[in-house]
Amino acid sequence: MPSNNPTIVLTGDRPTGKLHLGHYVGSIQNRLKLQEQHDNCFYMIADIQALTDNAANPEKVRENTTEVVLDNLATGLDPEKTTFFIQSQIPEIAELTVLFLNLVTLARLRRNPTVKDEMKQKGFGENVPAGFLTYPVSQAADILFCNSNLIPVGEDQLPVIEQANEIVHKFNSLYGETFREIKPSLTDTPRLVGIDGQSKAGKSLGNAIYLSDTPQEIEKKVMKMYTDPDHINLNDPGKVAGNVVFTYLDAFAPDKKEVQELKNHYQKGGLGDVKIKRYLIEVLEDFIAPIREKRESLSQDPSYIKEILIKGTLKARESAIETMKKVRHAIKIDHF
Ligand code: ATP
Ligand code: MG
Repeated sequence: MPSNNPTIVLTGDRPTGKLHLGHYVGSIQNRLKLQEQHDNCFYMIADIQALTDNAANPEKVRENTTEVVLDNLATGLDPEKTTFFIQSQIPEIAELTVLFLNLVTLARLRRNPTVKDEMKQKGFGENVPAGFLTYPVSQAADILFCNSNLIPVGEDQLPVIEQANEIVHKFNSLYGETFREIKPSLTDTPRLVGIDGQSKAGKSLGNAIYLSDTPQEIEKKVMKMYTDPDHINLNDPGKVAGNVVFTYLDAFAPDKKEVQELKNHYQKGGLGDVKIKRYLIEVLEDFIAPIREKRESLSQDPSYIKEILIKGTLKARESAIETMKKVRHAIKIDHF
């Protein structure tokens, strides 16, 4: 349907490590769906954001820039349908961030539940890098520089989207209607738990199964998975809620009926952890194998990856220049 106000989709990953199953179910599966439904889709490698807590590790961020692109291409994100670009190559995002910083307070940033959680996880305390504390502002600029309004994200990012919308409202009320309301796009599994049962599988947490893991790594991780600590003897009734093996089966097993039967049996007693783990290993290997193979073959051609990024970044830059014209005019800093 042609429209003067089309939906623009934007999503991204921090290049802090390879991508894992949480990324797939939390965000990538929606990226794949949305690129079929909308003409304007952007995928950003958030390297500037990754540096906010990795300033001393630029090599890590650089290396993982290629890794996250490979992961996305291997799962089916299509550079013909989705514009791939690198955050650091769009200087207008930094300019927009500086302007947005005036529209939020430090107190509000400190109250952001995602930032609070992540600061605790990283043990920053009062020594939090200013760039890290303000990353939601830079994320608002990532979203708004290309006028995007639909964002496939995991649940952990909802408070960041909420804060971006506050920036939209503040900007529009001070300088006139310029930006649109932003909507998150969530999947049925907006937060995949870690293999240790922790609330979120995260690449900085070391508790995830990666889209590039070998069959041996998958097996080792599933065998270590948190199940029901009270399920000691085979004939004891076992708990399904909070049992990571069943959480992953719910997310990845194609045969839902079989999963339901396993759950019933486990709850009644008589089904061992090793049996359900073996089943999950098979399910995950079937899911990951084609991604791993495609990734391997894509990694043989670095010039193809570079070409995608150069082309995409040039296209994203065009939007950035247009948006900044409007923004400078609205804020009355369009001097020359
Ligand atoms: P880091 O620990 O460096 O922050 P991360 O694993 O949280 O890494 P990000 O690059 O921050 O990954 O997130 C990319 C996208 O994937 C975001 O939309 C985020 O909400 C989503 N995501 C990350 N982890 C999960 C998860 N466990 N379940 C669902 N979605 C997730
Ligand atoms: Mg994260």
